Amino acid sequence: NREWHLLSRPVGWPKPEDFALVEAEVRQPAEGQVLVRNKYLSVDPYMRGRMSAAKSYVAPFELGKVMQGGAVGEVVASEAKGIAVGDHVLHFGGWREYATFDAAQAVKVDPEAAPLSTYLGVLGMTGLTAYAGLLRTAVFKEGDSVFVSGAAGAVGSQVGQIAKLKGASRVIGSAGSDEKVKLLVEEYGFDAAFNYKSGPVSEQLRAAAPDGVDVYFDNVGGDHLEAAIGSLNEGGRIAVCGMISVYNSTEPAPGPKNLARLIATRGRIEGFLVSDHYDLQSQFVQEVGPWVASGALKYRETVVEGIENNLEAFLGVLRGDNTGKMIVKV
Ligand code: NDP
Repeated sequence: NREWHLLSRPVGWPKPEDFALVEAEVRQPAEGQVLVRNKYLSVDPYMRGRMSAAKSYVAPFELGKVMQGGAVGEVVASEAKGIAVGDHVLHFGGWREYATFDAAQAVKVDPEAAPLSTYLGVLGMTGLTAYAGLLRTAVFKEGDSVFVSGAAGAVGSQVGQIAKLKGASRVIGSAGSDEKVKLLVEEYGFDAAFNYKSGPVSEQLRAAAPDGVDVYFDNVGGDHLEAAIGSLNEGGRIAVCGMISVYNSTEPAPGPKNLARLIATRGRIEGFLVSDHYDLQSQFVQEVGPWVASGALKYRETVVEGIENNLEAFLGVLRGDNTGKMIVKV
């Protein structure tokens, strides 16, 4: 049983020396617990925050201990009522091959209903993030023009497609390669998309959204946020989901220079955390599940094989190696 430990808190980009893949004993479950053999592990941008000591909405990872993250696995031993050997569960004991934990922390999932990896992505945490952020925080309504950054990623690709399926007048996405841009338009049905590495975001956004944007779903921060404020229509809403452009910065991020535009537009900018919106989970699965099953909503996964590549997969998310949800197959 191998598991990933955080050895030191990264400054700037995480380095391999900050981590170690460690051999650890498999702990048999106590009363009320289960032992799970992990099949799929999630790697997510927010994990970078947990590697720092700074106080945040989740506690930092502890040094010298196994890290945590979303995972799906098969129960191989159970001392808990209601969970049997052979059941599959979604839980939080990622970054390791085997996990032992209280059954109360596990949610049973059905491998027949959907591929197991989708419970970490399109039907899981990142899917709900897209759904809640767009519909609740950004108060999306039919006819809105929507701009989303990180648009070829797990959250972003779903934001754009949900907006489209719910009657957006125009959906614009930005991503970091021409290949991703092509995917957005040709496969996901975005009306326009651009590569943010090919020129200033504000100019590219103005060209892609000549009538402005009513909703901006921010996954990136920085230039993207400033550009969106510059293109915001009257009554526009900005949902701040993430700011991946600054997660490895050692200096505070510069603020947008054009915040005053929020006055004239009566614009609103609001951050949100998916963990505050789990009450939407069943509504989300009811509405989005059939779209996924029918292919009306498309998704990609980038699957990296092997626990030994868990760290590389995580770093890959920060670099943009992934298209859609980044998953580690154990
Ligand atoms: P993604 O699948 O979108 O992967 C991250 C992507 O970010 C990369 O693929 C890369 O794509 C892009 N990226 C990396 N660096 C930059 C940069 N400097 N500028 C622009 N884009 C960059 O991850 P998720 O879908 O899991 O997460 C997307 C965002 O949502 C993150 O900011 C994350 O922190 C946030 N989040 C927030 C939650 C909440 O509760 N508020 C919950 C879940 C996620 P590219 O090739 O296009 O650069």
